[in-house]
Amino acid sequence: MRIAVLALQGAFFEHIAMLNKLGVDSIEIRQKSDFSKGFDGIILPGGESTTMNKLLHDLKLFAPLQDSIKAGIPCFGTCAGLILMSKRFEDSRWQHLDVLDVTVKRHGFGRQIGSFSVNDSFAGSTVPMVFIRGPYITEVGENVKILAKTGGKIVSVRQNNLLGTAFHPELTEDSTVHTYFLDMINARCE
Ligand code: GLN
Repeated sequence: MRIAVLALQGAFFEHIAMLNKLGVDSIEIRQKSDFSKGFDGIILPGGESTTMNKLLHDLKLFAPLQDSIKAGIPCFGTCAGLILMSKRFEDSRWQHLDVLDVTVKRHGFGRQIGSFSVNDSFAGSTVPMVFIRGPYITEVGENVKILAKTGGKIVSVRQNNLLGTAFHPELTEDSTVHTYFLDMINARCE
């Protein structure tokens, strides 16, 4: 199995390190030709969604990325990555990859003091959740399964081939969420 990690900006290295720890091969997506390398899943890291969105367009990566996801390749977005995948925004009109049927509220926990960590339940397991000026989800479409909430706010969802977390599992030692994503890929390949 090989995972492509979008490596334009933000916390991509930490995802690669987590994949290494799990014994999974990875490649970085930095330019259009990287899409021809062959991979089984995509990770969109946290960072700054506006910057990442601009870079995706400037580097002509937006269309191949959107096409791959719409074709069904499993995609896991953390924080800014979740924002990029979402269809609707509470506080902005700009359209991103437009694949995940949720409404997100950017900086939902606050811009300045919105960074914190908690232990809470993700798909039935307690995991550490690190939030860094993260969003939360205010509304989900009918095909979207809620995997985690904290403080009453939706912070992780699954929709078919898409997995999103408002928190950063790659910044912890806990591999539960990455393992969940790898299981999604394995189930697709069976
Ligand atoms: N607030 C950031 C954004 O809107 C996301 C923060 C993060 O990825 N840690 O892009």
